[in-house]
Amino acid sequence: MTEKQNIAKTTYSDVISLARRRGFLYPSFDLYGGVAGFYDWGPVGSLLKNNFLAMWREAYVEGEGFFEIDCPNVTPEVVFKASGHLDEFTDYMTSCNKCSQHFRADHLVAELHPNPDSLGKEELAGLISEKGVKCPECKGDLTELYAFNLMFKTNIGPTSERPGYLRPETAQGIFLNFRNLYIHNRQKLPMGVVQIGKGFRNEISPRQGVIRVREFQMAELELFVDPENPNYVNYPLLKHISLSLLPDTTEKEILSRTVEEAVEEGIIDSKILAYFVALTQEILLKAGLDPNRMRFRQHEAHEMAHYAKDCWDAEALTDFGWVEIVGIADRSCYDLEQHMKHSGVDLRAMRQLAEPKMVKVRKIEADMKKMGPVFRGRAGKIRDKILALDDDAVAAVESGQPLIVSVDNERISISTDMFTISQTNENRSIERFMPHVIEPSHGVDRILYCVLEHSLKRTVDESGEETRVLHLPPVMAPYLFAVFPLMSRDGLTDNARELYNLIKNELRGRGSLGFYDESGSIGRRYSRMDEIGTPYCLTVDYQTLEDGSFTIRERDSKEQARINKKQVRTALRDLVDHGISLKDWSKKNGVKLISRDN
Ligand code: AMP
Repeated sequence: MTEKQNIAKTTYSDVISLARRRGFLYPSFDLYGGVAGFYDWGPVGSLLKNNFLAMWREAYVEGEGFFEIDCPNVTPEVVFKASGHLDEFTDYMTSCNKCSQHFRADHLVAELHPNPDSLGKEELAGLISEKGVKCPECKGDLTELYAFNLMFKTNIGPTSERPGYLRPETAQGIFLNFRNLYIHNRQKLPMGVVQIGKGFRNEISPRQGVIRVREFQMAELELFVDPENPNYVNYPLLKHISLSLLPDTTEKEILSRTVEEAVEEGIIDSKILAYFVALTQEILLKAGLDPNRMRFRQHEAHEMAHYAKDCWDAEALTDFGWVEIVGIADRSCYDLEQHMKHSGVDLRAMRQLAEPKMVKVRKIEADMKKMGPVFRGRAGKIRDKILALDDDAVAAVESGQPLIVSVDNERISISTDMFTISQTNENRSIERFMPHVIEPSHGVDRILYCVLEHSLKRTVDESGEETRVLHLPPVMAPYLFAVFPLMSRDGLTDNARELYNLIKNELRGRGSLGFYDESGSIGRRYSRMDEIGTPYCLTVDYQTLEDGSFTIRERDSKEQARINKKQVRTALRDLVDHGISLKDWSKKNGVKLISRDN
């Protein structure tokens, strides 16, 4: 940058206007006036998103060795009844008595509380009445608060008999498959399972553009662990990483701690949770987030989702303030326990005991002579369900609760004359337990928006002319390189196409793309590539016709050097894979830098 240029602040509208102009993002359904809360990823944006997802998979599937599965978006109601989403996945709303507009209650008190998202119904209602909050549109009086469920409802099949919902998170599909996956993993924990897919939330007022949308890409891990084994095999690899932490304490103070210090001082509850906070940070930094605009904030107790025991959000500082981009929750055994209760299927894991121990086992034994004539063909299935009941269920029946089992989607009540409860002593070397779950949940659209905002640098020169450069890391760049002929004549285009094909073949299989462009002035072509974050531009000129050499220009430094075709392979490997600057590379290879082009 020359002295005459000034760095200008990057706002949300700068990012969005560049994103629209350059094919990152388009508002959905624009032809029909658009609908708030929906965005399409365009051709350049889709490449950016795919690069992020490839990196995410590389970390979780290749790096950690976790399974990946893919479940339906449409989910029957029974699942969300069990998971608690049907009753709990709500935001509080209020409406205006005069103009009938609807509002999210926490948005109405945004200026009156540091973290309105964390307030419960009573607190929100109290604040609204205490401060005399009125309708922001017409100053009318507001109704009492009411809960609005954020799930999109639909019917499975032609009638409303089988209600279904679009999933608000991908996690439930993983919990429902726990038994299959546990067997697939040879009944061993820890076991990590990831899913990349869409999440749907019918946000009441999606006001923050792409930050709060109604359909978004999620990338989630559910790590099933034995709560009695707090170790995680890869912990030592990340324990020295430094984190910026905002714990839920009265001081509300940012602490800078290594992962290990955070665990030892009890700031983060467990090594496993801390490991995934650190891995999240690694991924976000690799994706291009500014380390100085990132932190991890622990949820306040009453802010936590209904399933969580502890939660740390990765937050990025944006034009809107701090925004949650990844939620890393300790879901304890909540979900599996709920699904076990509602489905009647045992979802416990098994652990080997150090020493076998004698335990009292109570069993419910079905009297088939009495059950057979009543339940006929289903009597065998009912007996198996009864036999599979765990100790708690048997104890409940023993204390007088009715014995009910689910068979073929029907809840069947068994009368007390059809079973007996017996007790035996058994020597056991294995015990059953409910696995706990650690869940890093990534909102990909938000992460990508923040990557764009943090990467976009605007400079304005004395004449007011603005330059925009997207400083994306090469691993995220939609195009790794571009090739231009200086002029589209005199045989330069053939040469440029040849060079483009050469590099394209060189990079095949790496997932890196190139872009060929011969339209407009060379300056415009460079600036177009700067705006979409292409790290290297190669230009074929008249000297190429003489000696086969061409120029390579580095986006961030604007340095240029002249290299020949034989050097392409090593140059790209050193620059991209080893992160060497063009200046250092040129020095090492005895290549002279050409004057900078800014
Ligand atoms: P949660 O399950 O609420 O912790 O959400 C997980 C992640 O999904 C968050 O960290 C966000 O990145 C993302 N997210 C949640 N709601 C939305 C939304 N309405 N629009 C875009 N991203 C969202």
